[in-house]
Amino acid sequence: MSSDLVIVYHRQPYEEVVENGETKLKENASPNGIVPTLKSFFGGVEHGAWVAWKLAEDPKNPDFERVIEISDSYGDYSVSRLPLTQSQVSEFYHITSKEAFWPILHNFRERYNYDPVDWPNFREVNWAFAEAAAAEAAEGAVVWVHDYNLWLVPGYLRQLRPDVRISFFHHTPFPGADMFNVLPWRKEIVQSLLCCDVVGFHIPRYASNFVSVARSLHDVDVFDRVRVDDDFISEGTALTERTVPTKIVHEGRTVHISSAPVGVDVDYIGKQAALEQTAEKVAHIKEEMGDRKLILSVGRTDYTKGGTVQLESFGRLLDAHPELRGKVRLMHVSVSANRNMTAYAEVQDAIEQAAGRINGKFGTFDWTPITLISRAVPFTELIAYYQAADVCWITPLADGMNLVCKEFAAAREDEDGVLVLSEFAGAAVELGSAVITNPYSHRSMDSAILQALNMEKAERQDRMRQLRKVVNKYDIRAWGREQQRMFELAGELRKGAKKPAA
Ligand code: UDP
Repeated sequence: MSSDLVIVYHRQPYEEVVENGETKLKENASPNGIVPTLKSFFGGVEHGAWVAWKLAEDPKNPDFERVIEISDSYGDYSVSRLPLTQSQVSEFYHITSKEAFWPILHNFRERYNYDPVDWPNFREVNWAFAEAAAAEAAEGAVVWVHDYNLWLVPGYLRQLRPDVRISFFHHTPFPGADMFNVLPWRKEIVQSLLCCDVVGFHIPRYASNFVSVARSLHDVDVFDRVRVDDDFISEGTALTERTVPTKIVHEGRTVHISSAPVGVDVDYIGKQAALEQTAEKVAHIKEEMGDRKLILSVGRTDYTKGGTVQLESFGRLLDAHPELRGKVRLMHVSVSANRNMTAYAEVQDAIEQAAGRINGKFGTFDWTPITLISRAVPFTELIAYYQAADVCWITPLADGMNLVCKEFAAAREDEDGVLVLSEFAGAAVELGSAVITNPYSHRSMDSAILQALNMEKAERQDRMRQLRKVVNKYDIRAWGREQQRMFELAGELRKGAKKPAA
């Protein structure tokens, strides 16, 4: 059945669990994250489709149905499962995307690994995604492609289906030309993105960077540039831009450039925060803490998240301020998502060593300065920690957006608690009321955490109220509305486009 909206996202929109030898599809255990948000778009169309990959020993002859129909609370939609071998997945995802693209996107040139990339495989996998999307899309449908591992899909899809509206959203940062052009496949990637009707980013800086990259490689004119809304200007911080391109033209084709930060589900977090069981958990954590202050840090184990930089700052804090020993505790949650990748295993080791050193140096029988947690904390439990924390300390070296800092503010119905936020997280352009810090400077890191610990209640409340106002205004629904508006603009562009081949 053809669909009005086709979402192309590398992961499937549910979890597959085997119960009594039978494979069952279950809603993702965690209700936060981007998947439920994307699925909610199926509620607004007659029929939707989702294209993702699924492991198969023999992709020509997979031991599962390629396309299945689902009817659930999100609506009626097909899921088209692209059979890929283990080696196709590891080459396209773990090697090309994670070892070559990811470091470049986050400005870590020294981590970039070109040698193992199998570019023909990357093309093949992207072509397969494009074919699957073309097969599902109704005439004039919106095909919504997500993230850098599918960069070549728009170009292929445009060849297969000139009629469809293609919108591409980047969930990561997008670097400037000096960095992006390290990739030898730069021209091909950008050529593909220029086949979209909409190319979307979280913040104006990434949009501007994309346009400057495109202009470095192709003849591209900037057709429209607008002033950035004051809500996204955090005076003097690293990622703030004052104007942003919104429309470019390449070979007579118009591409809309969108900047819209992904937000959090404020209603859901508010409801969870108000539950009796959350209050009990908060009370338990506070009792455990006694008169000690709780600093909370939550993220994935990734060199971009700057885990050791933060731990070292905490070590310096305890060194320079003996009066804080025994009085503060850092709960450092660093979840390992890719344990089997060397780069991530190294980061995990470095975090464990740094935490061990600091605990060994300052810890006593009844006080351990750092509690390191490497497993994922269930989201509902995390909300209780957000509510119990005195400070939420989020200091990535680079981060497309960062949702943890927004979740913290959304959970603080008491309008208390201090957010210390790196200016290199996309969210910093909206959250200027946080204590903004530069993780590349010891002085900035150390003074920001000290400022947060010493802040008076009136200032804490004032800043938290402002943070909550922004997080509420630009919640996940606001992002959804902006994406919808972009699909409509894309529709204008496609009017009169060629019909699909019969
Ligand atoms: N998260 C979680 N449990 C954990 C750690 C993280 O549920 O132990 C969630 C967190 O609530 C957030 C997401 O994982 O929704 C991380 O998103 P973010 O944008 O901050 O970082 P990313 O991992 O996407 O770079």
